[in-house]
Amino acid sequence: MNSPETHDPALHTLRHTFGYPAFRGEQAAIVGHVQQGGDALVLMPTGGGKSLCFQIPALLRDGCGIVISPLIALMQDQVQALCQLGVRAAYLNSTQSFDESSAIERQLLAGELDLLYVAPERLLNGRCQALLESSRIALFAIDEAHCVSQWGHDFRPEYRQLTILHERFPQIPRIALTATADEATRAEIIERLALEEARIFISSFDRPNIRYTVVEKDNPRKQLLKFIRTHHEGDAGIIYCLSRKKVEETAAWLRSEGISALPYHAGLDAAVRADHQTRFVRGDGIVMTATIAFGMGIDKPDVRFVAHLDLPKSLEAYYQETGRAGRDGLPSNAWMAYGLQDMVLQREMIEQSQAPDEVKRVERRKLEALLGYSEAPACRREVLLRYFGEESTPCGNCDMCLTPPETFDASLPAQQALSTIYRSGQRYGAAHIIDILIGKATPKVVERAHDKLSTFGLGKTQPEAQWNSLLRQFVAQGLLGVSEFGGLMLQDACRPVLRGETTFMAKRVRAAAPKAAASVRREIEFESDEARTLWAALRQCRRDLAEEQNVPAYMIFGDATLKQMLDKRPMSLDAMIELSGVGDRKLDAYGSQFLDVIQGHQRRL
Ligand code: ADP
Ligand code: ZN
Repeated sequence: MNSPETHDPALHTLRHTFGYPAFRGEQAAIVGHVQQGGDALVLMPTGGGKSLCFQIPALLRDGCGIVISPLIALMQDQVQALCQLGVRAAYLNSTQSFDESSAIERQLLAGELDLLYVAPERLLNGRCQALLESSRIALFAIDEAHCVSQWGHDFRPEYRQLTILHERFPQIPRIALTATADEATRAEIIERLALEEARIFISSFDRPNIRYTVVEKDNPRKQLLKFIRTHHEGDAGIIYCLSRKKVEETAAWLRSEGISALPYHAGLDAAVRADHQTRFVRGDGIVMTATIAFGMGIDKPDVRFVAHLDLPKSLEAYYQETGRAGRDGLPSNAWMAYGLQDMVLQREMIEQSQAPDEVKRVERRKLEALLGYSEAPACRREVLLRYFGEESTPCGNCDMCLTPPETFDASLPAQQALSTIYRSGQRYGAAHIIDILIGKATPKVVERAHDKLSTFGLGKTQPEAQWNSLLRQFVAQGLLGVSEFGGLMLQDACRPVLRGETTFMAKRVRAAAPKAAASVRREIEFESDEARTLWAALRQCRRDLAEEQNVPAYMIFGDATLKQMLDKRPMSLDAMIELSGVGDRKLDAYGSQFLDVIQGHQRRL
């Protein structure tokens, strides 16, 4: 490592086993606290680095760390990744044969394991309890601790019985971890897991490496393709759509454009779904087009973008979905295309559902918050973080910060639009209202005699896209409401604008090709074709090694480590071990292969 050798055992393990030079944020404090036997509740965003918080204390303390994890698929990934680092890790779950699990139980009893991942239902059975009674245990880590909460979407009843750990093994430290931030869930975790004595570590939920962008929907497919071609050629990404049909169509269309896209939704055969997920996780450039059925339990670190072609359900859902980008900390994009129609659609879904009024009220509020984000007049990250109870300053890494929109006095157009809506009876959608404003005598307009309204054609001076944007801004700011059937209606808040008592400042729509798109750098930047060639060769080497061992590519080395090989061009193993992500075991296992690639490349220059 760059840094001098250390006598701190935690730092020593971080450097030699994991290959990282320094702890991030609260990690050092958490590791220290748990290593000394304290209980902890850790709230950290996705990608924040929760795993190290229990893995390192487990390695440092006497005995084996027991990790309770609700997702069987993830267990296997984490165990594989740990084995790559030379850590003695295993898991116990229902996918194993009796002989396989007996072998692991024997290893545990013999003190040959550092970490053991166990599914909660397994942990609670008598056999496993007896096993734990006769083993040396370093700590209990309760991952995805929000699963105790009945109100969340991941409720797992077995999690509630985990208090048994505290009762049976009062002297063994427990560390509960989650990326779910809200106050109610936190209180519930503490109560349900009897963690009243635990120290609470709360990290900021900001994900600074994710760049947030919202574009006005115009031709969404074309916009999406351009976004991918400009920023993410060959990258792994997730594209969320609302319906299964749209998922299928979008994937097929992307493939016709030469992008390796696969569909994923709950209507697909289970085997197909599993196959697509594996190809996405293992490969290093698959685009998954999916409904929200996809994502839970995906901890692929090198997802470079998450795109939304439809509005998500809420800001919580949006933050969770976009949070799947950039877990490795490298620059990543969260991109969404949205239009008034999306909002109307969501509104209709709420109103027409069978849910009780109370639920509908909550859903309406959530939709409003989403709209507030989409129409944010300034930094999007500020809006997001404020929603989660964090104050911040303009981030410099969202579309609003990077290319602040031009604003103009739209008081007159506002009056024109509002009075058109009023005069036509407050029951038409945006398209019809705009037809009247720009003086388009469509059959519908003529039939309803709306070409006789005094505002007919008054708005010709504004382009149609500007009208669309204005109507959205009116809705976002509460001047207009949307009825159950998608009709625009005046709200009390519009009165002062109608009467000309206030000015209405509006965002001007951007020209067809936003400047931002052209000036934004690629996520992995190449200074030259030569660098691009080496990057491809490094990726190929990684792919070959991954295939040989049948593990995901990122488990060999993550993008962040590969990028350092590209930038620093290590010419010896001593230089290689300096890179972040290269620990002792991986240096031994793969160092020389990558060295060959780099040296070969340098010789050909
Ligand atoms: P979480 O479980 O909080 O979503 P992970 O534990 O999976 O996050 O960590 C996210 C990524 O960050 C992983 O690729 C991990 O190896 C990396 N990481 C964690 N801690 C550090 C660190 N101190 N230095 C460098 N990389 C780190
Ligand atoms: Zn910003």
